[in-house]
Amino acid sequence: MSNNQNLFDTIAAETTPKGSGGISVIRISGPEAIDIASRIVKTRKQLQDCPSHSAHLGDIYDNERRIDQALVTIFRAPHTYTGEDVAEISCHGNPFLVSQIMTIVLRHARQAEAGEFTQRAFLNGRIDLTGAEAVNDLIQAQTRQSQAVALEQMEGSLQHRIEGLLHRITQIRMQMEIEIDLSDQDLADTDWSVVKDETESLLQALDELILTGQEGVILREGLKIALVGAPNVGKSSIFNAFLQTERAIVTPHPGTTRDYLEEAVAIEGYLLRLFDTAGIRETPDEIEKIGIDRSQRMIGQADRILLISEADISPDELHHLEEISQQNNVIKVINKADLLTDSQIANFREKGYVVCSATEPDGLDELKNKLLEDIRISQNDLHSGILTNARQIAAASRAFDSLGKAHIAMQDQLGAEFVAFDLKEASLALEEIIGKITSEELLNRIFSDFCVGK
Ligand code: GDP
Repeated sequence: MSNNQNLFDTIAAETTPKGSGGISVIRISGPEAIDIASRIVKTRKQLQDCPSHSAHLGDIYDNERRIDQALVTIFRAPHTYTGEDVAEISCHGNPFLVSQIMTIVLRHARQAEAGEFTQRAFLNGRIDLTGAEAVNDLIQAQTRQSQAVALEQMEGSLQHRIEGLLHRITQIRMQMEIEIDLSDQDLADTDWSVVKDETESLLQALDELILTGQEGVILREGLKIALVGAPNVGKSSIFNAFLQTERAIVTPHPGTTRDYLEEAVAIEGYLLRLFDTAGIRETPDEIEKIGIDRSQRMIGQADRILLISEADISPDELHHLEEISQQNNVIKVINKADLLTDSQIANFREKGYVVCSATEPDGLDELKNKLLEDIRISQNDLHSGILTNARQIAAASRAFDSLGKAHIAMQDQLGAEFVAFDLKEASLALEEIIGKITSEELLNRIFSDFCVGK
Protein backbone atom coordinates (compact mmCIF):
# COMPACT_ATOMS: atom_id res chain seq x y z
CA MET A 1 0.00 0.00 0.00
CA SER A 2 1.41 3.40 -0.90
CA ASN A 3 2.10 6.01 1.74
CA ASN A 4 -0.31 8.64 0.53
CA GLN A 5 -3.43 6.53 0.94
CA ASN A 6 -5.65 7.26 3.83
CA LEU A 7 -5.52 4.13 5.96
CA PHE A 8 -9.00 4.67 7.27
CA ASP A 9 -11.03 5.84 4.31
CA THR A 10 -13.84 3.60 3.08
CA ILE A 11 -12.73 0.77 0.80
CA ALA A 12 -14.60 -1.80 -1.26
CA ALA A 13 -13.91 -4.90 -3.31
CA GLU A 14 -15.59 -7.98 -4.67
CA THR A 15 -14.73 -10.49 -1.97
CA THR A 16 -15.85 -13.65 -3.78
CA PRO A 17 -13.87 -15.00 -6.74
CA LYS A 18 -14.54 -13.56 -10.16
CA GLY A 19 -16.91 -15.62 -12.27
CA SER A 20 -20.46 -16.92 -12.28
CA GLY A 21 -22.04 -18.53 -9.25
CA GLY A 22 -25.04 -18.45 -6.97
CA ILE A 23 -24.00 -15.19 -5.36
CA SER A 24 -21.15 -12.72 -5.37
CA VAL A 25 -20.29 -10.62 -2.35
CA ILE A 26 -19.05 -7.06 -2.43
CA ARG A 27 -17.53 -5.94 0.85
CA ILE A 28 -17.39 -2.31 1.91
CA SER A 29 -15.41 -1.31 5.00
CA GLY A 30 -14.79 2.03 6.65
CA PRO A 31 -16.63 4.87 8.36
CA GLU A 32 -19.06 5.37 5.47
CA ALA A 33 -19.68 1.71 4.67
CA ILE A 34 -23.26 1.51 5.92
CA ASP A 35 -24.13 4.90 4.51
CA ILE A 36 -22.82 3.91 1.08
CA ALA A 37 -24.68 0.60 1.18
CA SER A 38 -27.92 2.39 2.04
CA ARG A 39 -27.49 4.69 -0.93
CA ILE A 40 -26.96 1.79 -3.31
CA VAL A 41 -29.42 -0.79 -2.04
CA LYS A 42 -32.98 0.34 -1.44
CA THR A 43 -34.19 -1.61 1.59
CA ARG A 44 -37.50 -1.38 3.44
CA LYS A 45 -35.84 -0.19 6.66
CA GLN A 46 -33.22 2.54 6.77
CA LEU A 47 -29.91 0.66 7.11
CA GLN A 48 -28.50 3.42 9.31
CA ASP A 49 -31.13 2.58 11.92
CA CYS A 50 -30.62 -1.19 11.81
CA PRO A 51 -28.65 -3.14 14.40
CA SER A 52 -25.28 -4.75 13.78
CA HIS A 53 -25.12 -8.21 12.23
CA SER A 54 -28.46 -7.89 10.46
CA ALA A 55 -29.36 -8.74 6.87
CA HIS A 56 -31.79 -6.85 4.65
CA LEU A 57 -33.23 -7.58 1.24
CA GLY A 58 -33.39 -4.72 -1.24
CA ASP A 59 -33.00 -3.55 -4.82
CA ILE A 60 -29.94 -2.04 -6.36
CA TYR A 61 -30.48 0.94 -8.60
CA ASP A 62 -28.19 2.89 -10.86
CA ASN A 63 -30.09 6.16 -10.77
CA GLU A 64 -33.57 5.03 -11.89
CA ARG A 65 -32.46 1.75 -13.49
CA ARG A 66 -32.91 -1.40 -11.41
CA ILE A 67 -29.82 -3.61 -11.62
CA ASP A 68 -30.32 -6.48 -9.24
CA GLN A 69 -31.99 -7.71 -6.10
CA ALA A 70 -29.52 -8.13 -3.25
CA LEU A 71 -29.08 -8.91 0.41
CA VAL A 72 -27.12 -6.40 2.47
CA THR A 73 -25.57 -7.50 5.74
CA ILE A 74 -24.33 -4.77 8.02
CA PHE A 75 -21.80 -5.10 10.81
CA ARG A 76 -21.02 -2.24 13.14
CA ALA A 77 -17.57 -1.47 14.52
CA PRO A 78 -15.75 -2.70 16.46
CA HIS A 79 -16.98 -6.32 16.28
CA THR A 80 -16.39 -6.82 12.58
CA TYR A 81 -13.75 -8.48 10.43
CA THR A 82 -11.86 -5.23 9.88
CA GLY A 83 -12.79 -3.59 13.16
CA GLU A 84 -14.63 -0.91 11.17
CA ASP A 85 -18.23 -0.57 9.96
CA VAL A 86 -18.71 -3.16 7.25
CA ALA A 87 -21.49 -3.71 4.72
CA GLU A 88 -21.59 -6.78 2.53
CA ILE A 89 -23.77 -6.79 -0.55
CA SER A 90 -24.67 -10.28 -1.72
CA CYS A 91 -25.86 -9.94 -5.29
CA HIS A 92 -26.40 -12.55 -8.00
CA GLY A 93 -23.18 -14.20 -9.06
CA ASN A 94 -22.82 -12.73 -12.51
CA PRO A 95 -19.66 -10.79 -13.40
CA PHE A 96 -21.72 -8.47 -15.63
CA LEU A 97 -23.92 -7.46 -12.68
CA VAL A 98 -21.02 -7.30 -10.25
CA SER A 99 -19.05 -4.93 -12.41
CA GLN A 100 -22.05 -2.59 -12.68
CA ILE A 101 -22.55 -2.65 -8.92
CA MET A 102 -18.84 -2.14 -8.28
CA THR A 103 -18.89 0.88 -10.61
CA ILE A 104 -21.59 2.45 -8.45
CA VAL A 105 -19.87 1.47 -5.19
CA LEU A 106 -16.59 2.97 -6.36
CA ARG A 107 -18.24 6.35 -6.87
CA HIS A 108 -18.32 6.50 -3.07
CA ALA A 109 -15.51 4.22 -1.89
CA ARG A 110 -11.97 3.45 -2.90
CA GLN A 111 -11.09 0.10 -4.52
CA ALA A 112 -9.44 -2.05 -1.82
CA GLU A 113 -5.98 -3.33 -2.51
CA ALA A 114 -4.79 -6.92 -2.08
CA GLY A 115 -5.18 -7.95 1.55
CA GLU A 116 -6.35 -4.53 2.65
CA PHE A 117 -9.39 -5.74 4.63
CA THR A 118 -7.15 -8.08 6.60
CA GLN A 119 -4.52 -5.37 6.96
CA ARG A 120 -7.14 -3.17 8.57
CA ALA A 121 -8.15 -6.03 10.86
CA PHE A 122 -4.51 -6.15 11.94
CA LEU A 123 -4.09 -2.36 12.27
CA ASN A 124 -7.31 -2.15 14.28
CA GLY A 125 -6.08 -4.84 16.66
CA ARG A 126 -8.66 -7.45 15.61
CA ILE A 127 -5.91 -9.98 14.88
CA ASP A 128 -2.16 -10.12 15.32
CA LEU A 129 0.22 -10.58 12.42
CA THR A 130 0.33 -14.38 12.75
CA GLY A 131 -3.47 -14.36 12.65
CA ALA A 132 -3.40 -12.27 9.47
CA GLU A 133 -0.94 -14.65 7.88
CA ALA A 134 -3.16 -17.55 8.91
CA VAL A 135 -6.12 -16.02 7.08
CA ASN A 136 -4.14 -16.27 3.86
CA ASP A 137 -2.97 -19.77 4.73
CA LEU A 138 -6.54 -20.84 5.36
CA ILE A 139 -7.65 -19.49 2.00
CA GLN A 140 -4.90 -21.47 0.32
CA ALA A 141 -5.01 -24.61 2.46
CA GLN A 142 -5.36 -27.79 0.42
CA THR A 143 -5.10 -30.42 3.12
CA ARG A 144 -6.75 -31.19 6.43
CA GLN A 145 -3.61 -30.58 8.47
CA SER A 146 -2.66 -27.24 6.91
CA GLN A 147 -6.26 -26.18 7.35
CA ALA A 148 -6.21 -27.19 11.03
CA VAL A 149 -2.98 -25.30 11.70
CA ALA A 150 -4.19 -22.19 9.86
CA LEU A 151 -7.44 -22.22 11.78
CA GLU A 152 -5.72 -22.56 15.16
CA GLN A 153 -3.23 -19.85 14.22
CA MET A 154 -6.00 -17.53 13.06
CA GLU A 155 -7.57 -17.96 16.47
CA GLY A 156 -4.34 -17.02 18.21
CA SER A 157 -2.47 -20.26 18.99
CA LEU A 158 0.92 -18.96 17.87
CA GLN A 159 0.25 -15.49 19.20
CA HIS A 160 -0.43 -16.88 22.67
CA ARG A 161 2.68 -19.08 22.56
CA ILE A 162 4.81 -16.06 21.61
CA GLU A 163 3.16 -13.86 24.21
CA GLY A 164 3.88 -16.48 26.85
CA LEU A 165 7.58 -16.41 25.95
CA LEU A 166 7.59 -12.62 25.87
CA HIS A 167 6.05 -12.48 29.31
CA ARG A 168 8.80 -14.72 30.70
CA ILE A 169 11.54 -12.63 29.09
CA THR A 170 9.94 -9.48 30.46
CA GLN A 171 10.06 -10.92 33.98
CA ILE A 172 13.85 -11.38 33.68
CA ARG A 173 14.22 -7.95 32.12
CA MET A 174 12.42 -6.39 35.07
CA GLN A 175 14.73 -8.21 37.42
CA MET A 176 17.69 -6.80 35.48
CA GLU A 177 16.27 -3.25 35.66
CA ILE A 178 16.02 -3.57 39.45
CA GLU A 179 19.57 -4.88 39.53
CA ILE A 180 20.79 -1.92 37.44
CA ASP A 181 18.91 0.62 39.61
CA LEU A 182 19.98 -0.73 42.95
CA SER A 183 23.38 -2.27 42.40
CA ASP A 184 25.32 0.89 43.31
CA GLN A 185 23.51 0.97 46.63
CA ASP A 186 24.28 -2.67 47.27
CA LEU A 187 20.57 -3.34 47.59
CA ALA A 188 20.07 -5.65 44.65
CA ASP A 189 19.45 -9.23 45.62
CA THR A 190 19.31 -10.95 42.25
CA ASP A 191 19.60 -14.69 42.54
CA TRP A 192 21.67 -15.21 39.41
CA SER A 193 21.32 -18.96 39.43
CA VAL A 194 17.53 -18.63 39.26
CA VAL A 195 17.82 -16.10 36.42
CA LYS A 196 20.22 -18.33 34.56
CA ASP A 197 17.99 -21.39 34.99
CA GLU A 198 15.02 -19.49 33.66
CA THR A 199 17.04 -18.24 30.68
CA GLU A 200 18.13 -21.78 29.91
CA SER A 201 14.56 -23.00 30.12
CA LEU A 202 13.52 -20.17 27.78
CA LEU A 203 16.28 -21.09 25.36
CA GLN A 204 14.95 -24.61 25.28
CA ALA A 205 11.39 -23.41 24.74
CA LEU A 206 12.54 -21.21 21.86
CA ASP A 207 14.52 -24.05 20.37
CA GLU A 208 11.42 -26.24 20.45
CA LEU A 209 9.42 -23.47 18.83
CA ILE A 210 11.97 -23.04 16.03
CA LEU A 211 11.93 -26.77 15.38
CA THR A 212 8.19 -26.64 14.80
CA GLY A 213 8.96 -24.34 11.86
CA GLN A 214 10.27 -27.23 9.82
CA GLU A 215 6.97 -29.06 10.15
CA GLY A 216 5.04 -25.84 9.73
CA VAL A 217 6.60 -24.87 6.43
CA ILE A 218 6.16 -28.41 5.11
CA LEU A 219 2.54 -28.36 6.21
CA ARG A 220 1.91 -25.20 4.24
CA GLU A 221 4.04 -25.84 1.21
CA GLY A 222 4.00 -29.63 1.11
CA LEU A 223 6.82 -32.14 1.45
CA LYS A 224 8.87 -32.05 -1.75
CA ILE A 225 9.83 -35.61 -2.66
CA ALA A 226 12.13 -36.45 -5.54
CA LEU A 227 11.92 -39.94 -7.04
CA VAL A 228 15.41 -40.78 -8.16
CA GLY A 229 16.98 -43.93 -9.55
CA ALA A 230 18.21 -45.74 -12.60
CA PRO A 231 15.86 -46.17 -15.56
CA ASN A 232 13.32 -48.95 -15.27
CA VAL A 233 13.45 -49.40 -11.50
CA GLY A 234 9.83 -48.25 -11.29
CA LYS A 235 9.95 -44.52 -10.48
CA SER A 236 7.05 -43.65 -12.75
CA SER A 237 5.10 -46.63 -11.46
CA ILE A 238 5.58 -45.51 -7.86
CA PHE A 239 4.68 -41.95 -8.85
CA ASN A 240 1.51 -43.23 -10.49
CA ALA A 241 0.67 -45.55 -7.65
CA PHE A 242 0.83 -42.53 -5.34
CA LEU A 243 -1.45 -40.55 -7.55
CA GLN A 244 -3.57 -43.48 -8.65
CA THR A 245 -3.69 -41.85 -12.03
CA GLU A 246 -1.74 -42.33 -15.22
CA ARG A 247 -0.10 -38.94 -15.55
CA ALA A 248 3.50 -40.19 -15.84
CA ILE A 249 4.42 -42.32 -18.81
CA VAL A 250 5.00 -45.92 -17.77
CA THR A 251 6.93 -48.01 -20.23
CA PRO A 252 9.28 -50.98 -20.15
CA HIS A 253 11.80 -49.01 -22.25
CA PRO A 254 14.48 -47.16 -20.24
CA GLY A 255 14.74 -43.37 -20.36
CA THR A 256 11.25 -42.34 -21.39
CA THR A 257 10.76 -39.90 -18.55
CA ARG A 258 12.88 -37.19 -20.13
CA ASP A 259 12.16 -34.47 -17.63
CA TYR A 260 10.53 -34.34 -14.28
CA LEU A 261 6.83 -34.35 -13.55
CA GLU A 262 5.26 -32.83 -10.49
CA GLU A 263 2.03 -33.85 -8.82
CA ALA A 264 0.63 -33.26 -5.39
CA VAL A 265 -1.25 -35.72 -3.24
CA ALA A 266 -2.75 -35.48 0.22
CA ILE A 267 -2.00 -38.42 2.46
CA GLU A 268 -3.45 -38.47 5.97
CA GLY A 269 -4.05 -34.75 5.55
CA TYR A 270 -0.46 -33.94 4.62
CA LEU A 271 0.52 -32.48 1.30
CA LEU A 272 3.14 -34.50 -0.55
CA ARG A 273 4.61 -33.04 -3.72
CA LEU A 274 6.11 -35.77 -5.84
CA PHE A 275 8.71 -35.19 -8.51
CA ASP A 276 9.39 -38.02 -10.92
CA THR A 277 12.84 -37.43 -12.34
CA ALA A 278 14.56 -38.57 -15.47
CA GLY A 279 16.63 -41.70 -14.98
CA ILE A 280 20.01 -40.60 -13.68
CA ARG A 281 22.59 -42.24 -15.95
CA GLU A 282 25.15 -41.47 -18.62
CA THR A 283 23.42 -40.87 -21.92
CA PRO A 284 24.42 -39.67 -25.39
CA ASP A 285 20.91 -38.29 -25.98
CA GLU A 286 21.03 -34.46 -25.81
CA ILE A 287 17.38 -34.00 -24.92
CA GLU A 288 17.59 -36.60 -22.22
CA LYS A 289 20.69 -34.85 -20.89
CA ILE A 290 18.73 -31.59 -20.47
CA GLY A 291 16.04 -33.49 -18.62
CA ILE A 292 18.63 -35.06 -16.36
CA ASP A 293 20.19 -31.65 -15.61
CA ARG A 294 16.84 -30.20 -14.68
CA SER A 295 16.09 -33.21 -12.52
CA GLN A 296 19.38 -32.82 -10.74
CA ARG A 297 18.64 -29.19 -9.91
CA MET A 298 15.24 -30.16 -8.62
CA ILE A 299 16.74 -32.92 -6.49
CA GLY A 300 18.83 -30.24 -4.81
CA GLN A 301 15.65 -28.51 -3.63
CA ALA A 302 13.79 -31.61 -2.47
CA ASP A 303 12.96 -32.20 1.21
CA ARG A 304 13.26 -35.97 0.74
CA ILE A 305 14.97 -37.97 -1.95
CA LEU A 306 13.64 -41.42 -2.64
CA LEU A 307 16.60 -43.30 -4.01
CA ILE A 308 14.87 -46.15 -5.75
CA SER A 309 16.54 -49.31 -6.93
CA GLU A 310 15.63 -52.89 -7.62
CA ALA A 311 17.37 -55.94 -6.31
CA ASP A 312 19.63 -56.61 -9.30
CA ILE A 313 21.19 -53.18 -9.48
CA SER A 314 24.30 -53.03 -11.70
CA PRO A 315 27.62 -51.76 -10.27
CA ASP A 316 27.59 -48.97 -12.88
CA GLU A 317 24.24 -47.66 -11.74
CA LEU A 318 25.25 -48.06 -8.15
CA HIS A 319 28.17 -45.73 -8.79
CA HIS A 320 25.88 -42.95 -10.06
CA LEU A 321 23.51 -43.35 -7.16
CA GLU A 322 26.20 -43.36 -4.50
CA GLU A 323 26.93 -39.65 -4.87
CA ILE A 324 23.34 -38.72 -4.18
CA SER A 325 22.91 -41.08 -1.27
CA GLN A 326 25.50 -39.13 0.73
CA GLN A 327 22.82 -36.58 1.58
CA ASN A 328 20.98 -37.05 4.84
CA ASN A 329 17.52 -36.54 3.38
CA VAL A 330 17.83 -39.67 1.26
CA ILE A 331 15.48 -42.59 1.81
CA LYS A 332 16.79 -45.77 0.20
CA VAL A 333 13.97 -47.71 -1.43
CA ILE A 334 13.88 -51.17 -2.97
CA ASN A 335 11.01 -51.52 -5.43
CA LYS A 336 9.49 -54.62 -7.05
CA ALA A 337 9.32 -56.41 -3.72
CA ASP A 338 6.74 -58.72 -5.25
CA LEU A 339 9.62 -60.35 -7.15
CA LEU A 340 11.68 -60.92 -3.98
CA THR A 341 11.71 -63.70 -1.45
CA ASP A 342 10.93 -63.00 2.19
CA SER A 343 14.53 -63.47 3.18
CA GLN A 344 15.71 -61.03 0.48
CA ILE A 345 13.20 -58.49 1.77
CA ALA A 346 14.34 -59.00 5.36
CA ASN A 347 17.90 -58.55 4.20
CA PHE A 348 17.18 -55.21 2.55
CA ARG A 349 15.25 -53.96 5.57
CA GLU A 350 18.21 -54.82 7.74
CA LYS A 351 20.40 -52.65 5.52
CA GLY A 352 18.07 -49.71 6.07
CA TYR A 353 16.02 -49.96 2.89
CA VAL A 354 12.33 -49.20 2.71
CA VAL A 355 10.72 -52.00 0.74
CA CYS A 356 7.90 -51.32 -1.68
CA SER A 357 6.06 -52.60 -4.70
CA ALA A 358 4.35 -50.23 -7.08
CA THR A 359 2.24 -52.98 -8.54
CA GLU A 360 0.81 -54.46 -5.32
CA PRO A 361 -2.35 -53.01 -3.75
CA ASP A 362 -0.79 -52.00 -0.42
CA GLY A 363 2.77 -52.00 -1.75
CA LEU A 364 3.48 -48.39 -0.84
CA ASP A 365 2.30 -48.46 2.77
CA GLU A 366 5.76 -48.81 4.27
CA LEU A 367 7.04 -45.95 2.12
CA LYS A 368 4.11 -43.68 2.97
CA ASN A 369 4.67 -44.29 6.67
CA LYS A 370 8.34 -43.51 6.35
CA LEU A 371 7.55 -40.24 4.58
CA LEU A 372 4.99 -39.15 7.12
CA GLU A 373 7.11 -40.27 10.09
CA ASP A 374 9.02 -37.01 10.44
CA ILE A 375 6.31 -34.58 9.49
CA ARG A 376 3.38 -35.77 11.56
CA ILE A 377 2.45 -32.95 13.87
CA SER A 378 1.23 -33.67 17.37
CA GLN A 379 -2.17 -32.48 18.51
CA ASN A 380 -0.37 -30.69 21.29
CA ASP A 381 1.75 -28.67 18.88
CA LEU A 382 -1.28 -27.98 16.77
CA HIS A 383 -3.05 -26.33 19.70
CA SER A 384 -0.05 -24.62 21.22
CA GLY A 385 0.98 -22.99 17.94
CA ILE A 386 3.76 -23.65 15.47
CA LEU A 387 5.82 -21.45 13.19
CA THR A 388 4.63 -21.74 9.63
CA ASN A 389 6.75 -19.48 7.45
CA ALA A 390 10.27 -18.22 6.86
CA ARG A 391 9.56 -14.80 8.32
CA GLN A 392 8.48 -16.26 11.65
CA ILE A 393 11.35 -18.74 11.74
CA ALA A 394 13.94 -16.01 11.03
CA ALA A 395 12.60 -13.79 13.81
CA ALA A 396 12.43 -16.67 16.29
CA SER A 397 16.01 -17.59 15.43
CA ARG A 398 17.14 -14.02 16.10
CA ALA A 399 15.34 -14.13 19.43
CA PHE A 400 17.14 -17.37 20.23
CA ASP A 401 20.54 -15.85 19.34
CA SER A 402 19.94 -12.78 21.49
CA LEU A 403 18.78 -14.89 24.39
CA GLY A 404 21.90 -17.02 23.96
CA LYS A 405 24.01 -13.86 24.20
CA ALA A 406 22.16 -12.85 27.36
CA HIS A 407 22.94 -16.25 28.80
CA ILE A 408 26.64 -15.88 27.98
CA ALA A 409 26.63 -12.39 29.52
CA MET A 410 25.24 -13.92 32.70
CA GLN A 411 27.82 -16.67 32.74
CA ASP A 412 30.65 -14.22 32.14
CA GLN A 413 29.19 -11.90 34.79
CA LEU A 414 29.30 -8.95 32.42
CA GLY A 415 26.66 -7.15 34.43
CA ALA A 416 22.93 -6.59 34.29
CA GLU A 417 23.19 -3.85 31.62
CA PHE A 418 24.58 -6.29 29.10
CA VAL A 419 22.05 -8.96 29.95
CA ALA A 420 19.21 -6.45 29.77
CA PHE A 421 20.36 -5.27 26.35
CA ASP A 422 20.36 -8.78 24.87
CA LEU A 423 17.04 -9.64 26.49
CA LYS A 424 15.53 -6.55 24.93
CA GLU A 425 16.79 -7.64 21.51
CA ALA A 426 15.19 -11.05 22.07
CA SER A 427 11.88 -9.41 23.00
CA LEU A 428 11.97 -7.20 19.92
CA ALA A 429 12.51 -10.17 17.65
CA LEU A 430 9.56 -12.05 19.18
CA GLU A 431 7.36 -8.96 19.03
CA GLU A 432 8.09 -8.81 15.33
CA ILE A 433 6.47 -12.22 14.86
CA ILE A 434 3.13 -11.11 16.25
CA GLY A 435 3.44 -7.69 14.66
CA LYS A 436 3.75 -5.58 17.81
CA ILE A 437 6.52 -3.81 15.98
CA THR A 438 6.51 -3.86 12.23
CA SER A 439 7.85 -1.78 9.42
CA GLU A 440 5.49 -0.60 6.72
CA GLU A 441 7.62 -2.42 4.20
CA LEU A 442 7.16 -5.72 6.02
CA LEU A 443 3.41 -5.22 6.22
CA ASN A 444 3.21 -4.39 2.54
CA ARG A 445 5.11 -7.51 1.71
CA ILE A 446 2.89 -9.72 3.82
CA PHE A 447 -0.44 -8.31 2.69
CA SER A 448 0.46 -8.02 -0.97
CA ASP A 449 0.46 -11.84 -1.04
CA PHE A 450 -3.26 -11.80 -0.39
CA CYS A 451 -5.90 -11.63 -3.05
CA VAL A 452 -8.01 -8.50 -3.53
CA GLY A 453 -11.15 -8.70 -1.45
CA LYS A 454 -9.51 -10.37 1.56
P1 GDP B 1 11.16 -45.89 -14.39
O1 GDP B 1 11.95 -45.89 -15.66
O2 GDP B 1 12.05 -45.97 -13.21
O3 GDP B 1 10.19 -44.78 -14.29
O4 GDP B 1 10.34 -47.27 -14.39
P2 GDP B 1 8.83 -47.57 -14.79
O5 GDP B 1 7.91 -47.06 -13.73
O6 GDP B 1 8.60 -47.12 -16.18
O7 GDP B 1 8.79 -49.15 -14.68
C1 GDP B 1 9.60 -49.97 -15.47
C2 GDP B 1 8.99 -51.36 -15.53
O8 GDP B 1 8.96 -51.99 -14.25
C3 GDP B 1 7.54 -51.37 -16.01
O9 GDP B 1 7.36 -52.46 -16.87
C4 GDP B 1 6.74 -51.55 -14.74
O10 GDP B 1 5.49 -52.15 -14.97
C5 GDP B 1 7.65 -52.42 -13.92
N1 GDP B 1 7.44 -52.24 -12.48
C6 GDP B 1 7.41 -51.09 -11.79
N2 GDP B 1 7.22 -51.28 -10.47
C7 GDP B 1 7.07 -52.63 -10.32
C8 GDP B 1 6.85 -53.47 -9.18
O11 GDP B 1 6.70 -53.04 -8.03
N3 GDP B 1 6.79 -54.82 -9.42
C9 GDP B 1 6.93 -55.35 -10.66
N4 GDP B 1 6.86 -56.65 -10.77
N5 GDP B 1 7.15 -54.57 -11.75
C10 GDP B 1 7.23 -53.24 -11.60
